[in-house]
Amino acid sequence: MPEISREWWRLRISLKQWAQDALVSFLHENGCNGAEFLDAQPSHLLLAYCRDEPASRSLCQRLWEYSRALGEIHGECPVVGIELERIKDPGWAHAWKAHFRPSRLSRRLAVRPPWSSFDGPEGLRVIQIEPGQAFGTGLHETTRLCMEWLDDLLRDSPIPRTGMDLGTGTGILAMAMALLGVRQVLALDQDPLAVEAALENVRNNNLVETIQVVQGSLDAAGERLFPLVVANLTGTVLMGMARELAKRVCPGGKLLVSGILGEEAKHVAEAFRRAGMRKLGSRRRGEWRAMLLAVRK
Ligand code: SAH
Repeated sequence: MPEISREWWRLRISLKQWAQDALVSFLHENGCNGAEFLDAQPSHLLLAYCRDEPASRSLCQRLWEYSRALGEIHGECPVVGIELERIKDPGWAHAWKAHFRPSRLSRRLAVRPPWSSFDGPEGLRVIQIEPGQAFGTGLHETTRLCMEWLDDLLRDSPIPRTGMDLGTGTGILAMAMALLGVRQVLALDQDPLAVEAALENVRNNNLVETIQVVQGSLDAAGERLFPLVVANLTGTVLMGMARELAKRVCPGGKLLVSGILGEEAKHVAEAFRRAGMRKLGSRRRGEWRAMLLAVRK
């Protein structure tokens, strides 16, 4: 994975507890890259992270408007105050692991560290992740893009029976697929530390029946084809394995790739076109892109 940005803008939002779920959803739907709660009295404190200043300012403004709208319905505005601050700490990208709090990542998916008992509203599927050595707590844009897209793809039936997650890291995307209804998921990673982390997370989330974690790359999948494949790698790695990856998707199946930088997107799309795949769409978050592909008929 390329470097995580070293400069962020943070909104410190004091809020009334009754509105926390609504506000977290609103933040995520309006360009926030990650949010965490701090318990503070008398109001709750929510920290929301944005990638650039214009996004953070516009988020602030929209949040005030949303709070006023909620205030009209509930008789009390839930947002008490917002402070905007720039974070330049180069260690922050790793430091947040120590402060990893529950975060909602898409309509139906959230993550939480093992020490949190966060359940969220009914219908929300909460994945417990140990923020250890492997990549994948869900707060990076490349993972978020996949979580959001998986959530959309797996909303309508028929839900594919099987799926593959290439480069599973903590196992987060494999677990997302499983929790959204895919019955059998193969999770692959070439890094033994990631495999160890994924195995632990899969056990902790009671998904051992559904997810098989195997060390290795595509070869480890044998001859199997899948109706749904997700690969959050890098643009360069994806281009290098486009043909092999395309061969793993069964007719009518879909391939979701992420970890692509803006300037790489064209080349990645071309590599998959040459491998016989058709681009169904692409989505972006900050400088990152994800792409959905299907086997060309
Ligand atoms: N899926 C997780 C982790 C993505 S990081 C998420 O979305 O957050 C990418 C992971 O892919 C790393 O754990 C890395 O070890 C693994 N990886 C990179 N190239 C790979 C390859 N060719 N085969 C298998 N795993 C690979």
